Amino acid sequence: SGEGPSVNHSNSSNSKVALITGITGQDGSYLAEFLIEKGYEIRPKEIYNLGAQSHVKISFELSEYTAQVDAIGTLRLLEAVRVAGLEKDTKIYQASTSELYGKVVEVPQTEKTPFYPRSPYAYGMFACNGLLFNHESPRRGENFVTRKITRGVAKITLGLMTHIELGTLDSKRDWGHAKDYAMWLMLQQKEPEDFVVATGETHSVREFVEKAFACVGRQVTWRGTGVDETGHDAETDQLLVKVNPKYFRQTEVAKEKLGWVPRVTFDELVRDMVTADLSLMKRDPAA
Ligand code: GDP
Repeated sequence: SGEGPSVNHSNSSNSKVALITGITGQDGSYLAEFLIEKGYEIRPKEIYNLGAQSHVKISFELSEYTAQVDAIGTLRLLEAVRVAGLEKDTKIYQASTSELYGKVVEVPQTEKTPFYPRSPYAYGMFACNGLLFNHESPRRGENFVTRKITRGVAKITLGLMTHIELGTLDSKRDWGHAKDYAMWLMLQQKEPEDFVVATGETHSVREFVEKAFACVGRQVTWRGTGVDETGHDAETDQLLVKVNPKYFRQTEVAKEKLGWVPRVTFDELVRDMVTADLSLMKRDPAA
């Protein structure tokens, strides 16, 4: 989906020109509308590379396809800019991912984590990575948990479905709204820079479920634990939510599977390491 929409050029004397890949997706569609409203045309001074396989679970299932589209696809775009001699004129926004931080949302990672051009083609180009934490909207793909829940709530309300089946209810995410123009703002800076975009607040899938049902005037009460946990209508007791291990993520089940709980606190870790290095340096000052 590498094309932008065509627009009329009525106010084009000062127009900027953008190319957006991934325009059929949530972010691309919002961005296209936003830029068209601003009078943008479509022959690139700005390139927003949003065309990607973005679903985490599918990235494991279709790993080669994901690498082709997300990694090689990006390289091809950079190469196209270079070969066309556009590197001095064209700014590039790359939809990077908070996944690079390994989902450790409790310990916010920042833009200060250094990034350097990792290919010769990056040199001399205005190219930014946007590392967006989860961003949702009514246009979110149906297999992402937020959409799955809001679609489920709507269907249940309309009598089209009985209950929703979900994976880990206590997973937490930083959920923002996709109708957010951080991408555009990044390309309006003087110097290219990478940015992490997050609301700074995390909420659990469980909370999302509760809030979503509250929107249609229903309160959810929870019963049971783990795979046997179910959510019910507080008034009628109707089953609304069921856990299905099919939706568990391998990377998120270590605690459950291994019965693993972290025993060493952060403070203890630091103390342990400093103490060990103190005695090492005492024994061998040249160590
Ligand atoms: P992600 O953060 O890009 O993986 O976005 P998702 O919306 O796919 O998943 C967000 C969180 O919801 C993850 O921790 C999932 O494990 C959790 N989750 C719980 N149940 C489901 C489900 O049924 N579908 C999906 N996609 N995620 C679920």
